[in-house]
Amino acid sequence: MSEPLLELRGLGVDFAVTGGTVHAVRGIDLTVERGEVVGIVGESGSGKSATMLALLGLLAPNARVHGSARFDGSEIIGASEPQLRALRGGRIGMIFQDPMTSLNPVLTVGHQIAESIETHQSLSRKQVEARVRELLDLVAIPNAAERVKSYPHELSGGMRQRVMIAIAMANSPELIIADEPTTALDVTIQAQILTVLDDLRRQTGTAMVIITHDLGVVAGVADRVNVMYAGKVVERGAVDDVFYGCEHPYTRGLLACLPRLDRRDQDIEPIGGAPPLLDRMPTGCAFAPRCRYADHGCTTAEPELRVVQAIAVACHRAPVSAPQGPAPQASATAEGAS
Ligand code: ADP
Ligand code: MG
Repeated sequence: MSEPLLELRGLGVDFAVTGGTVHAVRGIDLTVERGEVVGIVGESGSGKSATMLALLGLLAPNARVHGSARFDGSEIIGASEPQLRALRGGRIGMIFQDPMTSLNPVLTVGHQIAESIETHQSLSRKQVEARVRELLDLVAIPNAAERVKSYPHELSGGMRQRVMIAIAMANSPELIIADEPTTALDVTIQAQILTVLDDLRRQTGTAMVIITHDLGVVAGVADRVNVMYAGKVVERGAVDDVFYGCEHPYTRGLLACLPRLDRRDQDIEPIGGAPPLLDRMPTGCAFAPRCRYADHGCTTAEPELRVVQAIAVACHRAPVSAPQGPAPQASATAEGAS
């Protein structure tokens, strides 16, 4: 029982497109221990969703998956559809960005939560009803007896996302995969949903993978963070080590994009340039064309993850925070990427 709950080894996803192949995920190693919350962070298009959809067998038909993903010791890449159906919504709960498109508009939320329980467990009507109430409690939806009769459009975005979380939790999964769970919500509601996820984790011990383009989202809830760029993990570590001691210039750029209440006078500095086209990758480091630290060495070979102090980083130049330089977060925030 000491093996990780989820273990990806060399996981890759290619999409066949007209005239070529999009290498969306290019060999990822990643582990999630039981009860752990792991963040996957990166700009749009970095391969975050493709990675998780690959595990769940939910990729588009033009996808080809390679490498390995073991869940609780069993290989799930290439698993049969019945095996995957038992995992999805059963042992692995899923939360997606837009609860409006994931919920059925013509069924009450109570009905939809009950359905997700009944798909995986045979319980009496009374037991199902009790479980639905318990789940609404768990996600802090007030007035559950009334709420079960509501249709999705009668609820606010935040309440709908709570319903999605209740559905994800319906069968007490060992793992929750939340893909941009707060992206469609405004900031106050975002914080509430993150609190719900955090409370859930404390109450149930469910492991979680939280996927987001916003490093700020994982700051308060994740134990460890993986930063993805162009289909690879380029930095990983405990959340505090990544926030206070990140080495990858890309991660620093993401941190510089975080609005800071104590620096309201400063413009938010986005990372300049755009990610590479995944069907014609440059040789060398995929981030080099956008990196202010890049030199000749960076364009010859792609850097592998290696340990630098408390984190693992895939950067030829790390540590770039030479002792004489300013602290990484200070430089990233005060100067931004030029
Ligand atoms: P993220 O979730 O990090 O925003 P995705 O995993 O959705 O990124 O996508 C990674 C890359 O794969 C993107 O370049 C995207 O355009 C491409 N992609 C995703 N699905 C397909 C598909 N069905 N066919 C071709 N390319 C795809
Ligand atoms: Mg995505």
